[in-house]
Amino acid sequence: MSKATKQFQTEVKQLLDLVIHSLYSNREIFLRELISNASDAIDKARFEAQSNESLLEGNSDWKIKLIPNKDAGTLTIRDNGIGMSMAEVEENIGTIAKSGTKSFVQAMKDAAAAEQPELIGQFGVGFYASFMVADKVTLTTRRAGDASHATLWESSGDGSYTIEDATKAERGTEIVLHLKEEFKEYLDEWKIRSIVKKYSDFIQYPVCMDITRTETPKGVDGEEIEGAGTIEKTEEQTLNSMKAIWARSKSDVTEDEYKEFYKHVSHDFEDPFRTIHFAAEGTSEFKALLYLPAKKPFDLFMAERKRGVQLYVKRVFITEKCDALLPDYLRFVRGVVDSSDLPLNVSREILQEDVQIKRIQKSLVNKILSTLADLKEKEYDQYLTFWKEFGPVVKEGLHFDYANKEKLQELILFQSTRTAEGEYVSLKEYVERMPEAQKEIYYITGEDKASLEQSPLLEAFNAKGFEVLFMTDPVDEWVVQSLFEYKEKKLKAVDRGDVDLDSEEEKKEKEKKQEEAKKEFGTLLDLIKNRLESKIKEVRFSNRLTDSACCLVADEYGMNANMERIMKAMNQAVPESKRVLELNPDHPILKVMAEMHKQNPDNSRLLDYSDLLYDQALLTEGSPIKDPLKFTKLVSELMVKAAQQ
Ligand code: ADP
Repeated sequence: MSKATKQFQTEVKQLLDLVIHSLYSNREIFLRELISNASDAIDKARFEAQSNESLLEGNSDWKIKLIPNKDAGTLTIRDNGIGMSMAEVEENIGTIAKSGTKSFVQAMKDAAAAEQPELIGQFGVGFYASFMVADKVTLTTRRAGDASHATLWESSGDGSYTIEDATKAERGTEIVLHLKEEFKEYLDEWKIRSIVKKYSDFIQYPVCMDITRTETPKGVDGEEIEGAGTIEKTEEQTLNSMKAIWARSKSDVTEDEYKEFYKHVSHDFEDPFRTIHFAAEGTSEFKALLYLPAKKPFDLFMAERKRGVQLYVKRVFITEKCDALLPDYLRFVRGVVDSSDLPLNVSREILQEDVQIKRIQKSLVNKILSTLADLKEKEYDQYLTFWKEFGPVVKEGLHFDYANKEKLQELILFQSTRTAEGEYVSLKEYVERMPEAQKEIYYITGEDKASLEQSPLLEAFNAKGFEVLFMTDPVDEWVVQSLFEYKEKKLKAVDRGDVDLDSEEEKKEKEKKQEEAKKEFGTLLDLIKNRLESKIKEVRFSNRLTDSACCLVADEYGMNANMERIMKAMNQAVPESKRVLELNPDHPILKVMAEMHKQNPDNSRLLDYSDLLYDQALLTEGSPIKDPLKFTKLVSELMVKAAQQ
């Protein structure tokens, strides 16, 4: 192909702009990103060569070479990894992540807007980081096994790039950074050494550089030969120690090494929250170095995720995407698992079904859950910090990992009618502090604590001193379906079915009152029911209300308002389900209506009042009213009438 000039995808332009302007305080990471890409490319070549040896082209001396050239003002990063075809260059460099591109850039913008540049690091800005230090980048690459096609790509990071055919004898990729004047320090030997040591020491392949030293020649006796002048000696040195830190014993790894390795595998800028390093022996032999991040990654709830735990077999990288290694609800965990049992040429498809992988998964999950249990017991404040970030994800486990239900139910925390701002309660504590008269565990689902606290559904529970858990994560609706009881106490939604809060005596008392109320309101209830027939299933007197006039509840198996909201947000069809309107016979509005009804059962105002009651119930639970225009018209009329009296 002759030379073509092309435009970057809009999102790439935005990304470049963000990278250049937000990450300046961490500029030196450009080298880490490029070395990391080179190492990934060698991993891939090594992996593919397992089944196709010809890709090696007779050279398996894996190496990443750094070549600073002070005269030209360039820094070159060269690898002999898998390389790219022209199509791959177009796909990988110049466009970002095929899917979710928009949300990706948006999430990055948010991070920049929140002035949290460290979050941007998580996005794997990778190759684009070059433009923080270079005003021109030239990339030449040739895919392993295809000696006759190489590609030359070049850009000044200003919105366009050129691409053309090239020749390249060796497979792999060579990136030449034309450094901006003010960043020429990155050509300095000691600067490069220190960056490599800091960020890339554990890269598995040698990161090499030619070092030239000036020496005075020495005689056979080892003494310098006078008057012989100086000679230049160049030798290739390896700058990194290449130690696979997961393969070392814990006592040999320093805290800093753990942290740097975390940043390498996670692309996070922050330190990890917890490090879990262990070796398993017996039926399944593997080493694992896992990390719990401090902050949730931006793509935690996106279907398409980039990173997971990396799988190695006997120190050879296999894949970064082995979904079977950890269940989905632990998808925030990062790190490396290195198995001694799996065959090296294992295919990525087989991994999904492999029994060894299943054994490894079981052991990893046990370790992670016991680490969390330990943290909760010994360092509760720390656990709370973790929970606030990852609780909503861990909770998914209750729905999907039945085998670990017992452990998971001890890990979950909730806010409640009794917890202060920022505080949480566990199920164990909840049950321990239940008053004797309370038989079930009560909960209410909704959007957030502040709005739930206002719910009329809580009135009777508050009056009794019964604590109600606030379930404010969308996943909670599923959690309660799977959990359904804890320590033989049933979980019960306050907005579902009948609630049974009273002692036998109180019940008798209430029944008596309801009988009387029925006599008093009997036909009024029928009138309200008829009026609202298309919207509700039933009208009845409430056990839950003490102050408010009315509320809506789901029947035992019906769908509640929160679930409807969640399903709509997920763009799912919401089946038509009618709910029950509960009324408080002690509320003045009902007394007023009963009186009006007695005077004249055909009073048309009764119909308007019925509509208003229903709309009130919708508003207090946070649901939209169906006909806001009519609602405001009725309220205005009432206001005028009230003022005229
Ligand atoms: P990331 O590394 O996070 O995927 P990059 O923007 O750094 O993001 O790279 C995009 C893609 O370009 C990589 O996923 C890889 O497929 C390809 N790539 C980058 N550098 C190299 C390289 N040195 N050799 C081969 N492919 C590379």
